[in-house]
Amino acid sequence: MAEYIKYVDVTKCDGCRACMVACKNWNDLPAEPEEFQGSVQSHANVTANTWNVLSFIEHEDSKGNLDYLFRHSSCFHCTDAACVKVCPEEAMHYTDFGSVNVDSDKCVGCGYCVQNCPFDVVQLATYKDKNGKEYKKAQKCTMCVDRLEEGMQPACVTTCHTDAMEFGTQEEMLKKAKKRLSEIKDKYPNAMIYNPEGVGGTHTIYVLAEKPSVYGLPEKPKVPTSAVVWKDYAQPIGKMMLGATSMALVGAFVSNKLFNKEGKGHEEDGGGSHE
Ligand code: SF4
Ligand code: SF4
Ligand code: SF4
Repeated sequence: MAEYIKYVDVTKCDGCRACMVACKNWNDLPAEPEEFQGSVQSHANVTANTWNVLSFIEHEDSKGNLDYLFRHSSCFHCTDAACVKVCPEEAMHYTDFGSVNVDSDKCVGCGYCVQNCPFDVVQLATYKDKNGKEYKKAQKCTMCVDRLEEGMQPACVTTCHTDAMEFGTQEEMLKKAKKRLSEIKDKYPNAMIYNPEGVGGTHTIYVLAEKPSVYGLPEKPKVPTSAVVWKDYAQPIGKMMLGATSMALVGAFVSNKLFNKEGKGHEEDGGGSHE
């Protein structure tokens, strides 16, 4: 099947937040009232129950003019996804559309995906079972895979009234992004297509008016080395030597050492707070 991309042209966005509302509505996500943050931005970051946040950025351009920049932010659906690499349960997986999803039945709430996502867009939601015992599951933008399977577009794309978002085949969307970049270069000399190579390219790509860091994005995100070591070396060797069950126990210890975000402070280029 052809791979698909959600293409976001931030220069067409007018900050209406309809994409945020559509996402909450379609995915039945609860409201999350937030304290006033000193700006019109409603939520500081993407959370387990708010998969898409509209960021509002006050920016002074190279000519000293004040510009108001907006960005629809959600999962990037990386081609080489760190979350898929580190998940010990194979709960994080690629779909036929090229996007990345969580299988809630398989997720054990270990949080390794949260620790390793270079964009900080996956979080753990807390639930209670019928005995009142708490458990956790990873949650993030699904690229509205349930809609895609029915031949529809993602809810945020359908709702966008300025055509700042479009959805289509990889080839078609990359062509569109290149054409748009050539049209806006005069107005925005720092404009670029954000489709980072360090994560194998993404299935949510942006035309940004300014460099990524202006939008709170890492300039050169990459799959953390700890994730590569874990998936490509430690897990296969461990399974061969110990068998899958013992490896799961060893994994809990090793992974906690490898994936302690607080301890390692995120890798150089993979870091970047979300907003
Ligand atoms: S942005 Fe993060 S959560 Fe989304 S696919 Fe990439 S690594 Fe996974
Ligand atoms: S919390 Fe753990 S089990 Fe669940 S998706 Fe993330 S890495 Fe996989
Ligand atoms: S693609 Fe769907 S789940 Fe993802 S941000 Fe848009 S509406 Fe939300």
